[in-house]
Amino acid sequence: MAENLVAHQMVIDRSQRSAIKQQRPAVLWFTGLSGAGKSTIANALEQALVEHHRHTYLLDGDNMRLGLCRDLGFSDDDRTENIRRIAEVAKLFVDAGLIVVTAFISPFQRDRALAREVIGDAFFVEVYISTPLPECESRDPKGLYKKARSGALKNFTGIDSLYEPPVNPDICIDTLEDDVPNAVAKIMQYLVGRIEP
Ligand code: ADP
Repeated sequence: MAENLVAHQMVIDRSQRSAIKQQRPAVLWFTGLSGAGKSTIANALEQALVEHHRHTYLLDGDNMRLGLCRDLGFSDDDRTENIRRIAEVAKLFVDAGLIVVTAFISPFQRDRALAREVIGDAFFVEVYISTPLPECESRDPKGLYKKARSGALKNFTGIDSLYEPPVNPDICIDTLEDDVPNAVAKIMQYLVGRIEP
């Protein structure tokens, strides 16, 4: 089937879409354990970006799993397919000129590498939300660690499914050191000179 498909050249391109928004697009790809603080910091970051008149979008794990990825489970293969779809969506949003924040566990190094490849190295910023497992487990904001420990929830990252921390993330936030406003300030600081036209 794919051999009969030819990508159509669009008249308006990424640079025009971004220019009208007076920004350069980027994807801030958050990774970390469940409960690490990805969604919390991602939301606060998007708020800060919007306050700076940036055009943004936030892709969040649970929301995507309720829609585009609702046919997927939590096997290794399904996790890989989940991340592949998110990467393709983020790529479209980059083409639209947006600053995208993604909040997915994205546990496997190779899947994050694929996301970087799909989106393009120039736009991809890996943000490691680093929180030790015992801290995530004590926060347990959704009660999922408790469920996983009791055996009621299988393939849970950190318990019976692997998490591979980034080897060389562009930004590392240690949430035991930085509260949410500090984390946001660090990421905003990193973006200076990278998202202006
Ligand atoms: P994730 O999206 O990584 O699964 P959430 O953002 O849903 O994690 O939950 C993280 C929880 O940890 C929230 O209840 C948040 O208020 C809390 N928390 C405590 N300290 C921090 C911090 N420094 N940064 C981010 N979240 C924190």
